[in-house]
Amino acid sequence: MRFDQILADHRPSISFEFFPPKSDEAAQTLYSTVSGLEPLGPSFVSVTYGAGGSTRDRTRDLVLRLKRDTTLTTVPHLTCVNSSRREIAEILHSYVEGGVENVLALRGDAPPGVEHFEPPVDGFRYASDLVTFIRKEFPTLGIGVAGYPEGHPETTDKMLDLDNLKRKVDAGADVVITQLFFDNRDFYDFVERCELVGIAKPIVAGIMPIQSIAGVKRMASLSGARLPAELLRALARAGDDNERVASVGAHWAADQCRRLLDHQVRGLHFYTLNRSAATRRIYESLGIKHSQQLRA
Ligand SMILES: Cc1cc2nc3c(=O)[nH]c(=O)nc-3n(C[C@H](O)[C@H](O)[C@H](O)COP(=O)(O)OP(=O)(O)OC[C@H]3O[C@@H](n4cnc5c(N)ncnc54)[C@H](O)[C@@H]3O)c2cc1C
Repeated sequence: MRFDQILADHRPSISFEFFPPKSDEAAQTLYSTVSGLEPLGPSFVSVTYGAGGSTRDRTRDLVLRLKRDTTLTTVPHLTCVNSSRREIAEILHSYVEGGVENVLALRGDAPPGVEHFEPPVDGFRYASDLVTFIRKEFPTLGIGVAGYPEGHPETTDKMLDLDNLKRKVDAGADVVITQLFFDNRDFYDFVERCELVGIAKPIVAGIMPIQSIAGVKRMASLSGARLPAELLRALARAGDDNERVASVGAHWAADQCRRLLDHQVRGLHFYTLNRSAATRRIYESLGIKHSQQLRA
């Protein structure tokens, strides 16, 4: 099912994000995570694309395997930062042939240490260019794009950043999935600002249940997400006990989701980090039963 149909049918949409495993052991963990989450009946799951296309083949293999072996609607992420048009077209062709119906179109991060990113000569500079290309060359695909409630780190002018998001939507995106955030006020304000600039597509909230201190530090530094003082105090109380940290993280994320649902959020996208326990616990605490999801 394409994004526009999913978002029209599922209110809210519930989705889970995975990354391609690096080893056989990690693959086993992932497949048991998928088996644990599949019965929840998510609206879709997505598979990340490693920085600069580093997991190109592993992403494609996992996407096509999930498509073949499960009932899940599986959405590949695709970045253009390091790829030629031909490479992008090739991977998109393989997805369409494999029955994939949607893609999350991203630029990707500039390689580390590169201040002014220059795209490949025959590549794309921004995600909006990739969206334009997909819309024209692969018109059957549904397209998602990334949004940043706290602003994208590269563009300090937040008005401009929002105009750039609008370019992606105007180029043909069907849905915006946001970067993780820990303070819902950032999301509510983002949604309102999107409305003001005329972004009329559904905005799905990105939720990351904190599972360890090292993990949250890494994610916060990558995404620039702000940790509210209340959350920092709770994490400090948990100290270096990872179980307590994960408990604080799950409780915080569940509270965020409950309030977002009260605010009629269009969808919740869980950054699962390839583990099922926290996401499952949060999902079950929300009182949502897939078959009982409100229909549009
Ligand atoms: C839901 C989600 C999933 C993600 N999945 C992955 C993944 O699988 N793999 C991965 O490597 N990364 C992933 N990322 C991270 C993403 O690739 C980075 O944040 C990257 O730096 C920006 O990608 P983008 O698609 O938002 O780029 P863009 O929309 O192109 O924006 C990049 C920057 O350029 C600016 N900009 C855009 N258009 C213009 C313009 N015309 N003129 C001037 N400035 C402009 C924007 O304001 C922004 O600052 C994900 C992010 C999110 C939120």
